[in-house]
Amino acid sequence: MPDRTLIAGAQVFDGSGADSFAADVLIDGERIAALGRDVTPTLAEGAEVIDGSGATLMPGLIDGHAHLGFGSTVEYTSDRHESEDERALLIAHAGRVLLDSGFTSAYSGGNRLPRAEVAARAAFGRGWLPGPRLRAASWEGSVGLVEPGVYDFPGTHGRASDPGSVARFVDDMADAGVDIVKLTLTGESAVVAGTSRVVQFTDEEVAAASATADKRGVWLTAHAHSADAITMAVRHGIRAVYHCTFPDDEALDLLTQARDQIFVAPTPGIIYAHLIDPAFPPADIGEMREALASVKAVVPELKARGIRLVPGGDYGFAFNPIGKNARDLQLFVDWFGFTPAEALRCATAVGGELMGLNDDLGLIKPGYLADLLLVDGDPLADIGILQDTRRLAAIIKSGRFHKLADGRRSHAAAVR
Ligand SMILES: [Zn+2]
Repeated sequence: MPDRTLIAGAQVFDGSGADSFAADVLIDGERIAALGRDVTPTLAEGAEVIDGSGATLMPGLIDGHAHLGFGSTVEYTSDRHESEDERALLIAHAGRVLLDSGFTSAYSGGNRLPRAEVAARAAFGRGWLPGPRLRAASWEGSVGLVEPGVYDFPGTHGRASDPGSVARFVDDMADAGVDIVKLTLTGESAVVAGTSRVVQFTDEEVAAASATADKRGVWLTAHAHSADAITMAVRHGIRAVYHCTFPDDEALDLLTQARDQIFVAPTPGIIYAHLIDPAFPPADIGEMREALASVKAVVPELKARGIRLVPGGDYGFAFNPIGKNARDLQLFVDWFGFTPAEALRCATAVGGELMGLNDDLGLIKPGYLADLLLVDGDPLADIGILQDTRRLAAIIKSGRFHKLADGRRSHAAAVR
């Protein structure tokens, strides 16, 4: 491929949420150079031409809550007993599958091999392994899990508050090179019954995490189901809140006040996987039905309050594998009442902000990174087509084609 590529004749959904429009888009190196009328014959001369007819060109999808390190994808099911070396390689495998499914960026939801995830971030970023633009995260844990760490205590009662160990954990993870440190502020009823509303950290501990994160320049993400935990996350300036299942009025008001600093990933995919997905035996565990009913009411309320919502459904488990991530977009429409354009805006423009790449990622706009998808058909008419990888005619990251369907390379002259 030459440095410049012209994608001609597609409908363009630019990520802003506005309707799509017909326009040619010129890529120069890793960035978008021009679109529409600004693509002059002089600019486009000598560019490779891709035929975009019958397709929609949109920003690459961004997942806000994915686990590349749990081992399972639509191509491989992990028994979670692989050796550590094999698990490290599975992170790379999961990155490739995620990119194949149209996700050109991922904001990690946590990885028990943070150093391997940091290595994957470098490999994907330098382009010597296929995978998304990645924000790497620390490991996480919750009540009752066997992995060692500061999260293995049951709640905060009957133990001494230990802000020092939490600060040390954030420090260690920053040393490992992660972008994000994940705090499991509540337990998880799907793993240990009845813990989704148990707060696991003292206020002092979260304050210590927050101060250390600020000092080290890493972001914090909170796994938080209960109102108390959501409130705690916002008060301590945690940047991303996952699940956000049971907020009360106070939590909703705090989230609203912090809406320019905070992102919420309501994570519908894992609820679907537990309760509904016919591909796996539905497991009516924990508080899943309650969680489903609650998020269906809460997410439209968060949207009405202008809180930035991102898709990302905890993909990475055997019953909820990497590669199904676009299902979250359908759930934003079906469960939360988003229009397809609104859901896609969350997965593109808002995702770019989540990645910390404001003015760089998530829009089709001159100067922005050329992370793009060419989709056969119109995802604004049927967002479900994004779940069919055969519809992804081109997947482009940093101006490089990860995929290009046969027949899309045009021999027509670029100058028109
Ligand atoms: Zn998760």
